[in-house]
Amino acid sequence: MPAGALQRTLKEDTAQPQIKTETPMPDASHAPAPRALDVAIVGGGLAGLYAVHRLRGLGLKVRAYEAGSGIGGTWFWNRYPGARCDVESLEYSYSFDNALQQEWQWPERYGTQPEILKYINHVADRFDLRRDVQLDTRIVAAHFDSDGNAWTLRTDSGEEIQARYCVMAAGNLSTPRVPDFKGLSAFKGKWYHSGLWPHEGVDFSGLRVGVIGTGSSGVQMIPIIARQASHLHVFQRTANFSLPARNGPMEAERERRHKAEYPERRRAAADTPFAIGGHPKPTRSALDVSDEERNAAYEAKWQEGGSISYLYAYTDLLVNKQSNDTASEFVRNKIRGIVTDKRTGELLAPKDHPIGTKRLCLDTGYYETYNRDNVTLVDVRSDPIAEIAETGLRTDGGQRFALDAIVFATGFDAMTGALREIDIRTSTGADLRAHWAGGPLTYLGLMVSGFPNMFVVTGPGSPGVKTQMIASIEQHVDWIADCLAHLRGRGLDRIEASPEAESEWVKHVNAVADSTLYPLANSWYVGANIPGKPRVFMPYVGGYDRYKRHCDAIAAKGYEGFVLTRQERALEDA
Ligand SMILES: Cc1cc2nc3c(=O)[nH]c(=O)nc-3n(C[C@H](O)[C@H](O)[C@H](O)COP(=O)(O)OP(=O)(O)OC[C@H]3O[C@@H](n4cnc5c(N)ncnc54)[C@H](O)[C@@H]3O)c2cc1C
Repeated sequence: MPAGALQRTLKEDTAQPQIKTETPMPDASHAPAPRALDVAIVGGGLAGLYAVHRLRGLGLKVRAYEAGSGIGGTWFWNRYPGARCDVESLEYSYSFDNALQQEWQWPERYGTQPEILKYINHVADRFDLRRDVQLDTRIVAAHFDSDGNAWTLRTDSGEEIQARYCVMAAGNLSTPRVPDFKGLSAFKGKWYHSGLWPHEGVDFSGLRVGVIGTGSSGVQMIPIIARQASHLHVFQRTANFSLPARNGPMEAERERRHKAEYPERRRAAADTPFAIGGHPKPTRSALDVSDEERNAAYEAKWQEGGSISYLYAYTDLLVNKQSNDTASEFVRNKIRGIVTDKRTGELLAPKDHPIGTKRLCLDTGYYETYNRDNVTLVDVRSDPIAEIAETGLRTDGGQRFALDAIVFATGFDAMTGALREIDIRTSTGADLRAHWAGGPLTYLGLMVSGFPNMFVVTGPGSPGVKTQMIASIEQHVDWIADCLAHLRGRGLDRIEASPEAESEWVKHVNAVADSTLYPLANSWYVGANIPGKPRVFMPYVGGYDRYKRHCDAIAAKGYEGFVLTRQERALEDA
């Protein structure tokens, strides 16, 4: 189901989204004359907004197009109870302007969705970004005319936009996915997706609620919904590791110290694999220390809270299975210790993947929630959901659950979903969906061979989703801005990734992934949550630090692996 259709319908009836099947191509015959831009940006989230700021700063004529009725991307759409970032807000924020990072005050260690959205709106006002962002506008097609050396983008209302360059800032987790359950349309209650939450909120008081999915969103919302619902059934297919967030009010002294050292801290963060600072780099293998010492280290990390801290306990937790087993087992034992019902505790303890190889969740009271009388965990791995009926759902094994509301915390068509929803092609016959039929191919996650002048922000092949994403967004957009300045400075107007460089990069991304434990997990990093999606490891897991150095070196070598040309003169000469 295209997320675009789902999002549009949600706008029409925020209380109850219905599935529509296809995004029709608009009739452009009555559209106004195409708007001519230097850069068209798709998306008005943190990436699209920073691209507006940064590229406008080069004197370029830019405009961002955002499907939603407000800016903020992830933080505009994901309004479910308990939604918050899982990287501390002092880190998960823009770094490009020191005055901004000094003046903004985060009330809590981990910002809630409303706080983050407020921050994004503040940034938009402070840097006067809104005048170059067009809301309620979904880009449905982007066609590159090789002779004219320009992209034409088409919106869902038939508007056409021409631009020399196109920056895809459409998000990695912006295409919500509702599994294709038989009978959903017959359900008489209300249903919701975590990534398309009604703006007015949802009151589950006194209702029998079913939450399907126990990834990050599920883990965040379940403790809160449990406090409202008369009964909550959690339908779990795969148990995920979750660590305590230890969230709390921002301590004044901590904030003061962090802000005093902000520039140095940001620089230090950029020198780490996850682009998150403040954690001493580990120096030893988990297998180099005694059981007592290791358990004491894990205990200290567990008490401290946060995911990076835990994964930073030893050097080899993500590359050595035996080392990882010690960290995984420590958390499994914690879960068993918290959850009083033995069978439930065992079901919640993940056994099918090493800790950290799927996105590690952070929670506040998640496992404790299963000790409530009104919460039941249902294992839909051993007895899958067969269908949704008028009054609830039924499993293959014949179990029936009466429900007044269903919440899908089933995630997204990650990393490629948003771009595959746009009809992206060129006059020379390239078609992105066909090019990516066997899995996404990019050079550095920044460009796709055969698609000149189209940049992708934190796309597949980049480390984006494995990092503090705002750092990656800034790094990508800065690289793109420097590249456009380089082209302009040399009188060039076309850049394209070479097929050889793309193919080498894809091989490298896979080789790096294969040297880690990541491929052992059936995660959204390999598209495992989308039936029929090619199983390809999408993010670059070599680390933000290494990636940034590599991108900088490529630029310093005159954009090695890219072909830079001047088309305008060629056209004039023709
Ligand atoms: C619940 C949740 C929690 C998260 N927490 C963290 C965290 O703690 N730390 C972290 O680093 N990252 C986190 N992330 C990842 C998060 O997505 C990024 O941090 C960041 O917000 C991405 O910004 P973006 O602008 O690249 O993409 P998005 O925020 O996804 O914005 C993309 C925008 O593009 C729009 N769009 C897509 N297609 C089109 C189209 N065809 N036409 C017009 N508009 C389009 C979408 O509507 C969307 O608004 C989280 C993600 C989720 C879902």
